Amino acid sequence: MFKLSYTDTVTLKVLVFSAIAVFSIPYYFSAGGTLLGFILIRVIGSLMGGIAHIGSHRWLCHNSFKPSIFGKYLMLTGMVMNGHGSPLQIVIAHRLHHAHTDTKNDPHSPMYHSWFSLWLGRYTINSGIKIPKDFFKNKEAVFVSKHYWKLFYAFNIILALIDLKTALFFSPVNFAYSWIIITAVNYNTHKKNEVVEARNLNSVFNFISYGEGLHKNHHEDQTNYSFSGGTRFDLGAVIVEKLLMHNNQRTTAG
Ligand SMILES: [Zn+2]
Ligand SMILES: [Zn+2]
Repeated sequence: MFKLSYTDTVTLKVLVFSAIAVFSIPYYFSAGGTLLGFILIRVIGSLMGGIAHIGSHRWLCHNSFKPSIFGKYLMLTGMVMNGHGSPLQIVIAHRLHHAHTDTKNDPHSPMYHSWFSLWLGRYTINSGIKIPKDFFKNKEAVFVSKHYWKLFYAFNIILALIDLKTALFFSPVNFAYSWIIITAVNYNTHKKNEVVEARNLNSVFNFISYGEGLHKNHHEDQTNYSFSGGTRFDLGAVIVEKLLMHNNQRTTAG
């Protein structure tokens, strides 16, 4: 029977979700959506996308802070909403990136991929790291990873039953937008055709990527939840401190 490879499935997802995203915006307005509704959905979508990325990167990949129960569920909810895929897959890919930065075993080095290839999700697949045992101790994240697509479609079906135009718009646009941000982070924060060197990007990109553009600072201090490097503004670190972090850690950090 015809079966798509994992990489082809990701590419298909990117193309289908992005196409729905493009058509859903005029549909939203033609079906009676208001400008205020549009802005509200995008603000919530963008905030939840940023929180999802803080969750998959700073929390699950690097264990750089201890979340409160509220913070943990908020991050997992964001991950389910954005359609980026199982947190376990993201952890494995990102740890491979840190273990093999800008070598052939790096899943998304710009030395070996074009911007377009990364956007299509055509990452290099390899098995160069150990099973992330720490991840499997995190029961909620394991549950979300195991049932990721069921949870994603359940959320979307419930939203569609409440309001179809919002459902068609919310997750696909959320995905399409944050996927472009992630592609830019993966491609533009590493120098192409040079020795291994991560870079920090400009302040505007750092703001819209919730601090992910401060990638050089992150490579140099991977256990730190803040990517500020002591001098730059990191919106992600502010959200961790104000919204997601466990009280005990907040006391010691403050
Ligand atoms: Zn990292
Ligand atoms: Zn990097």
